[in-house]
Amino acid sequence: MTTRRALAYVWASPTTLLGLAAGVACGATWQVRDGVLEASGAGVARGFEWLAPQRGIVAMTLGHVVLGRDAAALDDTRDHERVHVAQCERWGAAFVPAYLAASAIAWARGGDAYRDNPFERAAWTQAPVPAGLAAASPSIDAPA
Ligand SMILES: [Zn+2]
Repeated sequence: MTTRRALAYVWASPTTLLGLAAGVACGATWQVRDGVLEASGAGVARGFEWLAPQRGIVAMTLGHVVLGRDAAALDDTRDHERVHVAQCERWGAAFVPAYLAASAIAWARGGDAYRDNPFERAAWTQAPVPAGLAAASPSIDAPA
């Protein structure tokens, strides 16, 4: 691991800790893919329903942790969520507040808090999720 990569993990670690706590609280099943911890399972799905019952969240990135409803959701959204991992590496501990502020600004301007969020626009441009999954879920992912 290069020094630059190690620093990216350290810089994103406050957000990663949130992801670790969420995965543990949900009793998730864990796997490591490409340097990212992926957590999934029924508890994660219940957590998404509790967090946003109407949004149909299937995956969420918190630092170097990606939470998914199930293994298939992790597979379907992997490229998209990796864009958010890179965003977390840039923004560090400010990622979640910045993401939420961007959603609030989009909503205050009359847009959709998810689709018009610049973090999402960038992720959808770089790595759109499969059309069927996108149609089924108004928001594929969201921060805590
Ligand atoms: Zn996204």
